[in-house]
Amino acid sequence: MPAESAGVILLTFDDHFTDAWVTAIPLFADHGARVTFFISEPHLLQPSQIDGLHRLAAAGHEIACHGLTHASAVDCLARHGPDGFLASEIDPAIDQLRQHGFAVRSYAYPRSQRSEATDSVLLPRFERLRSGWTAGAANEAFLFERCLVPLAALADRRVLIGKSIDQPAITDQQLDEVLRRTADSAACVTLYAHTIAPQAPHHHVTPKRLEALLQQAARLNLRLIPFASKTPAP
Ligand SMILES: [Zn+2]
Repeated sequence: MPAESAGVILLTFDDHFTDAWVTAIPLFADHGARVTFFISEPHLLQPSQIDGLHRLAAAGHEIACHGLTHASAVDCLARHGPDGFLASEIDPAIDQLRQHGFAVRSYAYPRSQRSEATDSVLLPRFERLRSGWTAGAANEAFLFERCLVPLAALADRRVLIGKSIDQPAITDQQLDEVLRRTADSAACVTLYAHTIAPQAPHHHVTPKRLEALLQQAARLNLRLIPFASKTPAP
């Protein structure tokens, strides 16, 4: 295996599907993949879910913040102002995760609703913020422009736009193309999903797609590293 990585994937999962995520620990380990879990409603986590998050963290994965109530940051800032937004939605979530034993470095915007104003309020609290690219999959040029960052620029990028890999937000073929572009341009791509399941009534990535992604990443020499990482080094 070449020493230099061709590129990097920041693979992230949102909300609180801890049981499904824990099941994938061996799959991630088999591929040397370290990923990130953005937790919403941390005050509602059951003890078994907190245990699950500790197992994920012990396996090298990042545990991060996705807000206290999954409220839109844009709406919350408009309604409550900067101090009220932090006091109602952000600081209690950070504190709750800290009390569970997780040092929080990153935040993912619920429903991908962000603005420059919300970035300004949140950047003093977090090392890096993730939003999402919510438009349809038709405009591929825009996808590559927004979701891929040159690896050399990663250390300085504190707001990253992710692309959903849930069914049916992207096809297998489009995902394969994203990975190839990432490797060909020595870039960093941010991807996001929710639960991991063959079928689910809500957003999900199938185990088959996840394994195919990890296998293709290995073939292309793309490394999967935690979201807050500044460099491809582990
Ligand atoms: Zn969410």
